[in-house]
Amino acid sequence: MQPTIDAHYSDLIARIRDAAILGSCAGVLGWDERTYLPRKAAAYRGEQMALLARLSHEMWTDPKIGEHLDALESAPLPDAPDGTMTVNVREIRRLYNRAVKLPKSLVEELARVTTQAQQEWREARAANDFARFRPWLEKIVALKQQEAEAVGYNDHPYNALLDEYEPNATAAEIRQVFAELARELTPLVSALAEAPHRPNTEILHRDYPIDRQRLFGEQAAAAIGFDFQAGRLDTTTHPFCSGIGPGDCRITTRYNPESFNEAFFGILHEAGHGIYEQGLDPEHFGTPCGSYCSLGIHESQSRLWENQVGRSRPFWEHFFPRLQQTFPTNLADVSLDDWLLAINEVRPSFIRVEADEATYNLHIILRFELELDLLDGNLKVADLPAAWNERFQKLLGLTPPNDALGCLQDIHWSGGGIGYFPTYTLGNLYAAQLMEAARRDLGESDLEADFRRGDFSRLKSWLNDKVHRPGRRWSAQELCRRVTGEHLRPQPLLHYLKRKYEPLYGIG
Ligand code: ZN
Repeated sequence: MQPTIDAHYSDLIARIRDAAILGSCAGVLGWDERTYLPRKAAAYRGEQMALLARLSHEMWTDPKIGEHLDALESAPLPDAPDGTMTVNVREIRRLYNRAVKLPKSLVEELARVTTQAQQEWREARAANDFARFRPWLEKIVALKQQEAEAVGYNDHPYNALLDEYEPNATAAEIRQVFAELARELTPLVSALAEAPHRPNTEILHRDYPIDRQRLFGEQAAAAIGFDFQAGRLDTTTHPFCSGIGPGDCRITTRYNPESFNEAFFGILHEAGHGIYEQGLDPEHFGTPCGSYCSLGIHESQSRLWENQVGRSRPFWEHFFPRLQQTFPTNLADVSLDDWLLAINEVRPSFIRVEADEATYNLHIILRFELELDLLDGNLKVADLPAAWNERFQKLLGLTPPNDALGCLQDIHWSGGGIGYFPTYTLGNLYAAQLMEAARRDLGESDLEADFRRGDFSRLKSWLNDKVHRPGRRWSAQELCRRVTGEHLRPQPLLHYLKRKYEPLYGIG
C-alpha cells in the first residue's frame, strides 16, 4: 500500500523539525562561543560545530525528504494556498533544492576559501593593503558565480544568491527601489549637513558607568516587550541575536563607559530581533510556518524598535527623565531637544557600522551596486577600490582616504556573503512602511500617547499578529502588500526621515 499524503507529510515534518532542533543545539554552542567560551576551548568548539553542521546537512539532504516532497507535490493538498501544509511543502522544497543542488565539492571549497579569506582580509584591512585581499576576493566571486549557476536563476546570477537571504526578491526590483531612495536621500543628507541646528554629541560621551547602562538598557528592552523569562542579554564583541527555540532567545550587546549610544541603541536593535523571534508561532517551531520570513523582515523589526520608536520624541518624553535620574551628573543641564538632536545626528562618514539611520542606506546602495557588477563581470575585482571611491563620492560627497576606510571595511565578502547587504536597507524600508501602517491601524496620536506613558504593548501586539505569527506563509513582498496595502516603496522611509529631521535641524 502507498503511504498516504498525511503519512508523507508527518514524516517530512518530523525530519525537518529534528534538523531544526539539531541546528538550535549548534545555536546554543554558537552563542556560548561568542559570550563565555574559554579562550583555549576554541579549537574543540570548532570540532563540535563542524560535526553538528555535517549532521544537519545530512538530515537536510536525505533523499527521503525529496521522496516526500515529490509525493506531496503530485497530489492535491487538502488546504489553501497559504495553508500550513501547502506553505511548508513549498518552502521545504525551496530549501531542499538549494541544499541538494550545490555540489559537495563546491560547498567544501567555499568553506575552505572563506575561512582563509577572512584571515587574509583581517590582515589586509589592518595593513590597508587591498592587493593582499584581491586574489581572495577574486576566488570568492568566481565561487559565488559557480554557486549561482548550480542553484539556477532568472535574469541575473545575483538573484540566486539573494534568494538565500531574501526569498523571492529580485535584483531588478531592489535596484529600482534603491535608485529612487538614493535620488532623494543624497540631497537630504547634504541639506542636513548645512542645517542651522547642530547636534552637540559631547553629551553622549560623558561618564556612563556600565552597570547603570545595563540596568537602563534592560528596562527599555523589557518595556518594548522583550521577554526576559524567555531570553537573556549578555555581553560580546560583535552584538547579535540568536533565536534558539521556543522560550529561548539570546541577545547581546557591548558597553562603552564613554559612549551611551553604542550599547543602548544596540540593545533596542537586538531586542527588536528578539521580539520577532519570541513572536514566532511555537506550535510550528522548526518548520517554515514557524520561521522568520526573510532577513529584510527580520531587520525591519530591529530597526523599527531602534529607530522608528527608540529615536522618537514620544519615546524619550517617557525615558529622558528616567535617564536623567540614572545619570544625574551627566544630564542635569541637558534639555530633551538637545538630547533628541544628539541621538539623531546625521553626518556622512566612511564606516558603515558607525553610520546614522539616514546615511546608512547610501552605504548599502553602494555595496549592492558593486556586488551586481562584480557578479556579472562588469567590474573586475582589481578595479573595485576605484569604483568604490567614485560611487562613494557621488552618494555621500566624500572620498575615502584609503581602502581600510573604503572597500576593505566589511567582513561580509571575505565570508562569501555576497547578496546579504541589501537586506539591511530592505529592513529600513520595511520598518518605515510597516510603521506607517501601524499608525494608520492604531491611530497615530493614540500610539504616541502610549509611548509617552512608556506603553508599547499595542504596537508589539500589532506586530505579533501582522508580522511575526505568519512566519514564512508569504514572501516578504506579499507580507508587505497584505499588511500595508502596497508594494515596497521608498516613500514611507523618505517621508519618515524628512518629517523627523527637518524640524529637528531647523530646515524645510
Ligand atoms: Zn540587525
